[in-house]
Amino acid sequence: MRDLQPICFPGVRTRRPLLIAGPCSAETEEQLLRTARELAAEGVGIFRAGIWKPRTKPGGFEGIGVEGLAWLARVKRETGMYTATEVATRGHVEAALGAGVDLLWIGARTSANPFAMQEIADALRGCDVPVLVKNPVSPDLELWIGALERIYNAGIRRLGAIHRGFTWIDKSLYRNHPMWAIPIELRRRIPGLPLFCDPSHIGGKRELVAPLAQQAMDLGFDGLIVEAHCAPDSAWSDKAQQVTPDAFAYIVRNLIIREMTVTTENLTELRAEIDKLDDQLLELLTRRMRISREIGQYKKEHDMPVLQTQRYEELLARRAAQAVELGMDREFMRTVFQAIHEESIRQQMRILNNR
Ligand code: PEP
Ligand code: MN
Repeated sequence: MRDLQPICFPGVRTRRPLLIAGPCSAETEEQLLRTARELAAEGVGIFRAGIWKPRTKPGGFEGIGVEGLAWLARVKRETGMYTATEVATRGHVEAALGAGVDLLWIGARTSANPFAMQEIADALRGCDVPVLVKNPVSPDLELWIGALERIYNAGIRRLGAIHRGFTWIDKSLYRNHPMWAIPIELRRRIPGLPLFCDPSHIGGKRELVAPLAQQAMDLGFDGLIVEAHCAPDSAWSDKAQQVTPDAFAYIVRNLIIREMTVTTENLTELRAEIDKLDDQLLELLTRRMRISREIGQYKKEHDMPVLQTQRYEELLARRAAQAVELGMDREFMRTVFQAIHEESIRQQMRILNNR
């Protein structure tokens, strides 16, 4: 994807972060217009609202449908904001573009489905509209990249990705686990691709919007898409995570945007120190693997199974608890030791199967 074009709109500030804000769902014409006017007054240039809502379970509010497209057109006429909505089918794409929507995004439940992605891509062929692809619900970078590639192959060049967190088995502070390493790896794989963060869907609670937005800025994200509603507590969907336009403006004003290009002498020194520590980490891991292979040899000679679940559980729990005491995240340490253990097992299996 070498010839991607920036996502920018005449009259919308280009300085980081590019801001998209608006309610989870378009509910009524009044709600939409009121929210839009308040956001426009705060200087927001791109207005989001879900017209079709993919709900996990039937029976919830599934979106107002095409009727709401006329309201979005009115928002555009009356406030001058550009408009954005989620599309999941060919019909949505055609209706949204027909109604003059300026930016389309694809939701997390849709980007997980290659058939749906291909249908949308086919519908977009020949159109020149910016498209943002949310990560699929599962932490699967290849699936996310595949979804982006389908849209790119349809000729869309103003393409971007939205990080909205991932479904995860463990209970956590977040509605959707951020797993920052995945969008960071996406950036490494497709360097020119604009990255947006959706702190509303990651956090699931309004008090998490500000810290998550700041974290995204610190990680070099280009934009934010945030759910804002004129009366969040009475929203028809996702009420716990929506903020008022006023609160949104406050959050944005307080973001610290750190300059990414300057590096100082100090930083060079600190980076050299990190490199040295990484060398040591590698050396330690090599030694650990060697001992692990010796254990493998012993297990082989004594007909023991490779995986000894109880010892593994103890090891994970003990190291995770220690990590917390040392100021690190429990999940982080579990992930590190799971990865080490996996490689250990792989090396032992090789010894066992090598007769
Ligand atoms: C949304 O943006 O309102 C939405 C449905 O998000 P996601 O696809 O990330 O769940
Ligand atoms: Mn939502």
